[in-house]
Amino acid sequence: MASSPLTIGVLALQGAFIEHIQMLRQLGVNAVEVRKPEQLTALDGLIMPGGESTTMGLIAERWGLVEPLRQWVHGGHPTWGTCAGMILLAEQATGQKQGGQPLIGGLNVTVNRNYFGRQTESFETLLTVPQLGAEPFPAVFIRAPAITEISDKAEVLAEVHTPTGADVIVAVRQGPILATAFHPELTSDNRWHRLFIEMIQANASASN
Ligand code: GLN
Repeated sequence: MASSPLTIGVLALQGAFIEHIQMLRQLGVNAVEVRKPEQLTALDGLIMPGGESTTMGLIAERWGLVEPLRQWVHGGHPTWGTCAGMILLAEQATGQKQGGQPLIGGLNVTVNRNYFGRQTESFETLLTVPQLGAEPFPAVFIRAPAITEISDKAEVLAEVHTPTGADVIVAVRQGPILATAFHPELTSDNRWHRLFIEMIQANASASN
């Protein structure tokens, strides 16, 4: 890692932000809880955590964060959305609550907000992720979304084989944006956090 530690913010409006902070600190990152637009300027990267995307979007609206977050993501800053965070980053979402929800966008995909909802509330499965190495990743899905449409700008990193036999996309990367439908911060395997740190470092050296 570079001599001065990276500063990564975790959007702390609602949901599983503390677990991300802890994992980042274990990796030597300066991790901060983000609640105000002006905090974004000090960050090298931002994580939008899991939780409830409709609630998170409404709080972001109330706290004046929607536009600043759009500018952050569309400005090419490294951003990782997990679960509800992945929904916020999607350009389109289906299965939303009545009245819709504010999305931040930036990731050229369509997500189904509760893709696995009807079959099961939560489950754990081993994912094959070539970018993380040979060892499968133990992914925890909680009322998880999935990507149902994807543009060729985004790269598929992982898929889940569903009981109906179809493969559904659960992790993607598009430039400096990473999105996972599951919760890597709830496991002890920090490979996704390390991948995000590598993406931030690559982004920084590309813009130097
Ligand atoms: N499906 C939830 C939503 O709509 C996300 C669940 C999660 O983040 N664990 O926000």
